[in-house]
Amino acid sequence: MTSTRPDFPMHVSVQQAREMLAALLPDPGTETVPLARARGRTLAADLQALVSHPSATESALDGIAAREADTLTAAPGAPVRLRVVGESRAGVPFAGTVGPGECVRIYTGAPLPSGTDAICPVEQLTEDGPDHVLLARPASPADVRQEGGDFRVGEAVLRAGVLLTPARVALAAALGHAEVPVRRRLRVALLSTGDEVIEPGRPLRPGQVYDSNRYGLHAMLEECGCEVLPLGHAPDSPEALARAIEAAGGADVLLTSGGVSMGRYDFMRDLLMERGRVAFWKVRMRPGGPALLGGWNGLPVFGLPGNPVSSLVVFQVIVRPALTGQPVQTLRLRAATPFRGLPDKTAFWRGVLREGQVYDYGQQGSGVLRSLSDANALVVVPEGGAVQAGEEVEVVLL
Ligand code: AMP
Ligand code: MG
Repeated sequence: MTSTRPDFPMHVSVQQAREMLAALLPDPGTETVPLARARGRTLAADLQALVSHPSATESALDGIAAREADTLTAAPGAPVRLRVVGESRAGVPFAGTVGPGECVRIYTGAPLPSGTDAICPVEQLTEDGPDHVLLARPASPADVRQEGGDFRVGEAVLRAGVLLTPARVALAAALGHAEVPVRRRLRVALLSTGDEVIEPGRPLRPGQVYDSNRYGLHAMLEECGCEVLPLGHAPDSPEALARAIEAAGGADVLLTSGGVSMGRYDFMRDLLMERGRVAFWKVRMRPGGPALLGGWNGLPVFGLPGNPVSSLVVFQVIVRPALTGQPVQTLRLRAATPFRGLPDKTAFWRGVLREGQVYDYGQQGSGVLRSLSDANALVVVPEGGAVQAGEEVEVVLL
């Protein structure tokens, strides 16, 4: 333990912690990947439409295409009779021009024939002899999809920096791109620490605990589109920790869990102070207060607390946004139960969303991993605040 005043900031805010970590991460550069492997990646450049969509003005329904004016009757309810002069199907347009009193059978996605401007759906049609139909209601221009109504050729439809969700991957395909430029994956080394921490699958002796953080954090890193370098586990000794950190060479950042609090066997902070550097220690949040940021020979090191809930919550609200460049998504909801505040910390209480309201999960201990599995939200109570039942509260979806 050091008794002198530390030369690094302590008790930073959640926002500062996020920004300081993001500032230490290297720019991973860009690469091009086929669309089938683009999900979860971050787009590295604006993506322009190579075509317009729809590529021609077309029908949104199965029915007939007609001139709207021909189908508006003076007497409401009186059916309109039109002569069917042909057909337009997807890929095989009607070649001629539709004249007054005429119509063309048309199907979803088929080009609108010249001369027509409106659609009457098949459900509103009755056959009247071999080449006439009766319309139970006027044809509507609302069921016409205009050429380029979705996007126009040349338009920058997807912007650099967006996360490629399944819908955006579909959109990139519709724009005409078979491959897309994405940010390279960050290489994240992952290390668990603690003499008592062992691999699941082996018998547990009293006082030991299975290494849940390694698996939870690994899965979260994969969700963030990172490449994980698993470093396994190190016992609580400065030499063993130093050796494990050295093994992370080549990674863009090292994430550790455990060993960052005030205990006698929490060596991470002192080790970084002596042989690397500390950028901050402790964040004004609960759970997760003892988180640590530092560096080791140019390698950024982020120390997550060992408590399973703390490590996963710190990951969600600090590490994930820094790694992905995406802000934490929050919504405002009505609190069905009160949520207490803390005078000098932002609280992230586990909550349960039900029918548009959020309820306190109950057990808020940072060792209760089950609570994170059962809860589907983190309720954010700002420093010094408190939330009464019935008030609105900010919520992070899990
Ligand atoms: P520490 O931050 O090292 O003081 O650990 C705090 C608590 O978290 C202790 O109860 C540890 O046993 C537990 N813990 C530390 N690392 C892990 C891990 N990888 N998986 C599960 N629990 C852990
Ligand atoms: Mg420990």
